[in-house]
Amino acid sequence: MAESLNSYVIAQRQVEEAANLLGLEPHVTEILKRPRRVLSVSFPVRMDDGRIVVFDGYRSQHNDAMGPGKGGIRFHPQVTVDEVKALSMWMTIKCQVVGLPYGGAKGGVVCDPRTMSQGELERVSRGFIEAIAQIIGPDKDIPAPDVYTNATVMGWMMDTYSRLQGTYSPAVITGKPLSIGGSKGRDEATARGCVLTVLEAMKERGLPVQGASVAVQGFGNAGRTAARLLAEAGMRVVAVSDSSTGVYHDGGLDIAQLERVKDAGSLRGATGVSFITNEELLETPVDVLIPAALENVITAENAGRIRAQIVAEAANGPVTPDADAILFEKGTLVIPDVLANAGGVTVSYFEWVQNLTHSYWSREEVYAKLADIIVPSYHEVSDLAREHGTTMRMGAYMIALRRAADAMKARGWV
Ligand code: GLU
Repeated sequence: MAESLNSYVIAQRQVEEAANLLGLEPHVTEILKRPRRVLSVSFPVRMDDGRIVVFDGYRSQHNDAMGPGKGGIRFHPQVTVDEVKALSMWMTIKCQVVGLPYGGAKGGVVCDPRTMSQGELERVSRGFIEAIAQIIGPDKDIPAPDVYTNATVMGWMMDTYSRLQGTYSPAVITGKPLSIGGSKGRDEATARGCVLTVLEAMKERGLPVQGASVAVQGFGNAGRTAARLLAEAGMRVVAVSDSSTGVYHDGGLDIAQLERVKDAGSLRGATGVSFITNEELLETPVDVLIPAALENVITAENAGRIRAQIVAEAANGPVTPDADAILFEKGTLVIPDVLANAGGVTVSYFEWVQNLTHSYWSREEVYAKLADIIVPSYHEVSDLAREHGTTMRMGAYMIALRRAADAMKARGWV
């Protein structure tokens, strides 16, 4: 039977597999396989041409035994409630892998920001927060950016929540602009965390960093920043892509130039490169492959053709469980999303702490604290995976589920 590509089915399968390895009691596993609360909302927005359009959105709160919910809000035409539920489960795992005092949550609005004006984007952002305001808050559930949302959107969202409460509440949301309580370093945090895990993996595998080849799928916040940081570290970024095209240059791409091209439109405007498809990018022979776009891009169908030695999941859920098994079998190291992209939520946590204590840190301080969390977490996961002869994903899930189960026990839930 063909593997399900429903992210919620996938997340439940992953939790069950790790729970079995851990020997968790069945009722504990049952709790962890479902979100505690899912709010579904529909809200009207006036578009620039005067039409009223009703948008659908969701906020899923997976587990709050360890602290308030935490996780981004994505704006994307393909958002579904099952996707948001899965993403909230992955956030619980992610927060617990790196030891943050949060449970997982996630939000999504079905919309396409690529076809919306700034004014429309602002009204959708404010409308969604108004619709979910009752279930979020600095001690309840703290949203952040995700696919096609950014600091500007977070600023509008924080403003809407603060107005509704009648209190300035920067700690309700992270990833804000610096002028209203954002943290230095949050913009690069996801990519920086990812690069730290790649460098540890290369050390473990004895791969030299200088001149190592890299392909990055996705040229949003995580992808483009990871490409730039890896090039700065001396690696040869031979391929990158956005949703419109992939670009390739064997000698190494000029990332700064591609960032300018992207800001002006899409990577289709690049010059002095060969154009490839997103599928070809994934199968490029490179040392390191970084999927930094969406879910389910490496499946049972193409996993056998992946030629990278290391796959670092900057995106959430890019590799399916069947693909995981195929890659593990052939010795490809997959650094799972819940670790490889945990730098983002880690600096979100720093931002929340800074907001709550009204004291602000330097960029250097943020980066040093980030490395102090990501590097030891990498080794904890890698060591446990090796000990159990399993994937790093299962190692990460085992650590996270154990912590969540302990918290639920301590609170008397189980
Ligand atoms: N959306 C990001 C993620 O998937 C960041 C979440 C956050 O900072 O709360 O990890």
